Amino acid sequence: MYCNKCGSYIPSKRTVCSNCGAPVPDPSAPAPAVEPAPAKRPNGIAVAGLIMGILTVVLCWLPGIPFLTGLLGTIFSIAGIAKKNAYFKGAAVAGLILSIIGVILSVFALLALIIPGVTKYLAKASEAESYIRATGVVWRTWL
Ligand SMILES: [Zn+2]
Repeated sequence: MYCNKCGSYIPSKRTVCSNCGAPVPDPSAPAPAVEPAPAKRPNGIAVAGLIMGILTVVLCWLPGIPFLTGLLGTIFSIAGIAKKNAYFKGAAVAGLILSIIGVILSVFALLALIIPGVTKYLAKASEAESYIRATGVVWRTWL
């Protein structure tokens, strides 16, 4: 047989290479098994995370619902990313990003819904204040 290291011929009964001193593998020993790449596992939770992420963005204009889908999307996506040796990791990452974007959008949507009401309320309050001032009522005790 031949040396694994230097390639020189080694008579069959020797246990080390006469040329370089490398140990000779025992030919009777079984060749080290080539470990097959473990099969990838399905990753349904990652797909669920992506679907929730898409729903969150699509429904971001609805009050309330995007927070639920965004929360589920975040949880599912992180679970999908954390799953070892599985398919659809990219889907889980996309699901996580979409969930976060969707929730941010829905916060803005909610603010757009609330702010006109608040502005209206403040305008009414200051209107009332000027009315009270005009009618001579002392309205400064709380200032
Ligand atoms: Zn050798």
